[in-house]
Amino acid sequence: PAAGPGGYMAGLNPEQRQAVEATEGPVLVLAGAGTGKTRVLTTRIAHLIATGKAWPSNILAVTFTNKAAREMKERIAALVGPAGEGMPWLGTFHAIGTKVLRRHAELVGLRSDFTILGVDDQLRLLKQVITADGIDEKRWPARALASFIDGWKNRGLQPKEVPPGEAASFANGRGAALYTAYQERLKTLNAVDFGDLLLECLRLWRDNPDVLEQYHNRFRYILVDEYQDTNVAQYLWLRLLAQARKNLCCVGDDDQSIYGWRGAEVDNILRFEHDFPGATVIRLERNYRSTGHILAAASGLIARNQDRLGKTLHTEDEPGDKVTITGAWDSEEEARLISEEIEAIQARKERLSEVAVLVRISAQMRELEDRFVQLGLPYRVIGGPRFYERAEIRDALAYLRATAQPADDLAFERILNVPKRGLGEACLQRLHAHARAARVPLMQAARYLAESDEMKPKPRKALRDLMASFDRWRSLMDRTAHHDLAAQILEESGYTDMWQKEKSADAAGRLDNLKELVRSMEEFPDLAAFLEHISLVMDANETEGQDRVSIMTLHAAKGLEFDTVFLPGWEEGLFPNQRALDENGRAGLEEERRLAHVGLTRAKKRARIYFATNRRVHGLWNTTVPSRFIDELPEAHVEVTEAPAAYSAGRASRFEGMTPFGSSYATPGWQRAQARAASGGGFGASQWTQAAGMADEDSRGGFSDDGYSGRWGDGSS
Ligand code: ATP
Ligand code: MG
Repeated sequence: PAAGPGGYMAGLNPEQRQAVEATEGPVLVLAGAGTGKTRVLTTRIAHLIATGKAWPSNILAVTFTNKAAREMKERIAALVGPAGEGMPWLGTFHAIGTKVLRRHAELVGLRSDFTILGVDDQLRLLKQVITADGIDEKRWPARALASFIDGWKNRGLQPKEVPPGEAASFANGRGAALYTAYQERLKTLNAVDFGDLLLECLRLWRDNPDVLEQYHNRFRYILVDEYQDTNVAQYLWLRLLAQARKNLCCVGDDDQSIYGWRGAEVDNILRFEHDFPGATVIRLERNYRSTGHILAAASGLIARNQDRLGKTLHTEDEPGDKVTITGAWDSEEEARLISEEIEAIQARKERLSEVAVLVRISAQMRELEDRFVQLGLPYRVIGGPRFYERAEIRDALAYLRATAQPADDLAFERILNVPKRGLGEACLQRLHAHARAARVPLMQAARYLAESDEMKPKPRKALRDLMASFDRWRSLMDRTAHHDLAAQILEESGYTDMWQKEKSADAAGRLDNLKELVRSMEEFPDLAAFLEHISLVMDANETEGQDRVSIMTLHAAKGLEFDTVFLPGWEEGLFPNQRALDENGRAGLEEERRLAHVGLTRAKKRARIYFATNRRVHGLWNTTVPSRFIDELPEAHVEVTEAPAAYSAGRASRFEGMTPFGSSYATPGWQRAQARAASGGGFGASQWTQAAGMADEDSRGGFSDDGYSGRWGDGSS
């Protein structure tokens, strides 16, 4: 491809061009949202290839999400054409880490077909490790240990490197020992957790300089997107890889740093200049994404933060629409208003793929999804990681794994008694004992016990039935489409039935998720390909080329852009999220504000903020107060609209006695709510804390809710 007029450089401004052409030596592009950082990276790759400085295979590009990796691949293919020399290595830290480790697994004590554990399996394993050490798991829960270990891994710390003070804070000083034991257990299982995907690379490269050298020779040019959200382990990983040639180009924006709570360090930006002295620092100031009002509103909001490196941004675009703020009576109405606007967009024949709804916690998605389903509005939920972390999805995956990989003990163990079939703890212990003695996988032990009289007739029959089912499913693998087989397995195992019988509020959602899982499998050639994909927990529930609205968490939206962005749930407690405030005070608030800024800056033409004055949290109605972020938006760039009273008035009686507003709709909802806030009206922050926590039910701790990315220090791998 040509760089000249009409070539890949066409239209770049001088600073962007400089960033593209500064191929040699360290480069840091520090610039605001929508200034073309990602575009610079993509163009840089094209430039490196076009000028013959590198073969595609000499390039390593790290993106924050798998979605971003895919998009970048497409953009590069469009720029350079189907290159004969293959494509650059392009993916998330974790995807690339996996690729590296599979090649050299034996050097770190693994086999190349190692399993990547999800949160649940990790917790189960930690529980075993804690109990085996004679520690009371109730007092020192696996979740707490997991968050310590994740923290250490995020900082690149091997067990022996854990500072004694920190190791002391778990189980009277047993922290580091348990970390060691856990790592050993992982090795025996030929498994890694997500943190290991980076940590083991670090170990591999440090212990094997010759292997590191291979990578130095291979990756002559390294590019990193969303640099502000790298954690220390990722930084060390990059530094090792880049130290020989120093052709490292990182792009980022401190105002979009939204993963501090899980170990990302904006300080990496400062470290970069320190570790790579003489780095070229380039600033981009023109925003090409958003119209004037949107950019001004977002800039005004983020200006409230104290911890900023500071930057100026301008657009040459027209002012466009103001950011709208709409108060809805409740979250149901909020969902309805949003879907009506989307229908209007659809009626205008605009593309739905240019529409996104960005939520603070995934629990908000349910109502929106319900509404969209009712209306037949096509949508997709992005940020799949979250999806695959859900308990029901992990159970379903365990069934599939146990079918495809009979030696997968963790999978088998997980579903042995799910649904309950009388194969409880006692049975499991017996299986373990036999498996250990005979040195066989659990499944094989089960096969043996199912035929022996060591077990009571009832569990024996249950076990025999289960083994017969697995045999049947396995025999179908070659003959049945893998997604049909998956549906069949979920039916025949009684798993779907288990949720159908369950009365809890979220059972329906879980059944939906299971259906979505089966649907998403159709995109893969076979079960093995699907499972490999899942183990990296990509945002898989996505069909290319279909025009659909996207729903995702704010965290998952980083780097993306849409014509129209809907931002529901701007209410105190929900957003800013109470848990962030409780746990991290002002820093927590500032990170929430950056999140709001990320949300607004995703919009090209229209940004629509919503809040509901009543929101149901686990079946209980709460009166809410509009988010302080709404007040912080500069007046000149926002427009307050109101939910048409007709919607609310008809239903007001439902809430009578629950709110001081009665059915008065004279004042806009948020002013009413503000008045209420000013008068000290009650607002259940604790419920929100709970809600945020609950949305996180299958992971632990984090108030944020972007699933894997939330826990593992990387966008979505
Ligand atoms: P974010 O911080 O949100 O990740 P970014 O800095 O990576 O944003 P890009 O996504 O690269 O920004 O660019 C934003 C939009 O502006 C994209 O649609 C991109 O194609 C467009 N763009 C960037 N540079 C130019 C340019 N020189 N001329 C026209 N459009 C541009
Ligand atoms: Mg970007």
